[in-house]
Amino acid sequence: MYQQLDSDTICAISTPSGVGGIAIIRVSGPEAFNIVDTIWRGRKLSEVTSHTAHLGDIIDPENEEEPLDTAVATVFRAPRSFTGENVVEISVHGSKWIQRELLNLLIRRGCRMAEAGEFTRRAFANGRLDLAQAEAVADVIAASSRSAHRLAASQMRGDFSKHISELRDQLIEIASLLELELDFSEEDVEFASRQHLKNLAEQLLTRISSLVSSFSTGSALKEGVPVAIIGEPNAGKSTLLNLLLNDNRAIVSDIPGTTRDTIEDTMEIDGVLYRFIDTAGIRETADAVENLGIERSYTAISKARIVIWLVTPDMPQERFQTFRKSIAAHLPEGSNLIVAVNKIDTLHSSVCNRPINLVNGDSVGIDSTDDAMKDEKHVNENFTTKTFGVSSMNPSFALFTESTSTTDTPLLYISASTGLNISSLLKQLHRYSGADESGNADLIVTNARHYEALTHAKLSLIRVIDGINTGLSGDFIAQDLRETIHHLSSITGTITTDDLLKTIFERFCIGK
Ligand code: GDP
Repeated sequence: MYQQLDSDTICAISTPSGVGGIAIIRVSGPEAFNIVDTIWRGRKLSEVTSHTAHLGDIIDPENEEEPLDTAVATVFRAPRSFTGENVVEISVHGSKWIQRELLNLLIRRGCRMAEAGEFTRRAFANGRLDLAQAEAVADVIAASSRSAHRLAASQMRGDFSKHISELRDQLIEIASLLELELDFSEEDVEFASRQHLKNLAEQLLTRISSLVSSFSTGSALKEGVPVAIIGEPNAGKSTLLNLLLNDNRAIVSDIPGTTRDTIEDTMEIDGVLYRFIDTAGIRETADAVENLGIERSYTAISKARIVIWLVTPDMPQERFQTFRKSIAAHLPEGSNLIVAVNKIDTLHSSVCNRPINLVNGDSVGIDSTDDAMKDEKHVNENFTTKTFGVSSMNPSFALFTESTSTTDTPLLYISASTGLNISSLLKQLHRYSGADESGNADLIVTNARHYEALTHAKLSLIRVIDGINTGLSGDFIAQDLRETIHHLSSITGTITTDDLLKTIFERFCIGK
């Protein structure tokens, strides 16, 4: 059962379970200093100044001869602590036995074992953090890439909350004008010009709508940007995936998907976490049932924010067009397609040792020596930044340039087996990840609960504007405005319920 006894003094291990160099046991509550003092041989913690660290021994009063450990106690006095209460953080040597014994000792001396997220919930209850900031604590702890960290840290500092509060204050201002009018309804006065109200409401709607639509970027950056690599058998999908993952081996991990045969590989490139969808499918042998392969690709596309479609230079034009249409039809809104012509190293021997005319009239001779091909910059310039002219190309290869040049889809020329031009592919991934938009972290929504609340706020604000447009009476408009304010308030926790708090803090681990 969820307890609300903030008068208890609670304790928990705040470092990960297992053996480490040190472990930290956190104690918080009115009796924190007194309880720890009963097992502490060193300076009396109830008398030392706040924010100081002290070396001492942990003693079991029933067995004083044999100290449990030599430890460091850091003291934070209420209200200048994370929870807003008296807090002692005891750093002990990381043995599991010491950790367990210290916890037992603290509980015997009057502490209660903390519940999941209870330290953070107390911080919220004591006004140290608002609800969005408290949720961001969990996100900061879980962040696994620079961009995810940047968003979470900004939210934890309160930037996002400040933005929401500003919106809320403006809504309250509109509402109070309307309410005032209602108080004087007998006298038929109009305190708030309808046009003025409408302008304000529309401005707020624009801001709320842009927060709502930022969620797809925000959640992708937080959870990992979903990327699908698709293409026909032998296009080089698994070669590309392995190249990307091997180059970034240090941070590669396998995340089990929702079904047993789905595996997702993740990696961080240039501060952004990418999640490769259905890598089990990519790694399947080419003799997999053709239909299943295609179905799988469409499923992967439907979940992706970025789709890398690998084609080979010899793909017939008709086939390319057919696939392109069907990929476009399956591409979710807001996602991006990169068409990568793979195996350009094979092209090299057949066409690259003669001059290629570029559309803008430049003429670049591509050297066939290995040194020149290894020079990625040289190849980047030749292959990616310009569209090839049709005339001088290998006929089938030229068809690609012709067929894609009318769309915005960037066409990259790569070699997954030699790594040529992969840096351009990575740049394109970064551009489409949305990471650059996240500079204004306070304007990006990363939390599904906030997204839901903002979506509701948006709907009720639209009703407000409709009401003004149709000349609805003030009390109906005021009702919708109150609803909008309610939804925004629920984000920062100005309005909240026990159930909501329970759901939020239960997701935390014990010790946080
Ligand atoms: P998938 O079926 O799409 O996963 O294709 P694979 O990655 O298994 O590649 C099929 C074949 O093409 C393998 O023999 C690869 O070594 C080869 N291959 C992949 N990429 C390249 C490339 O850039 N250049 C060349 N020459 N061969 C490649």
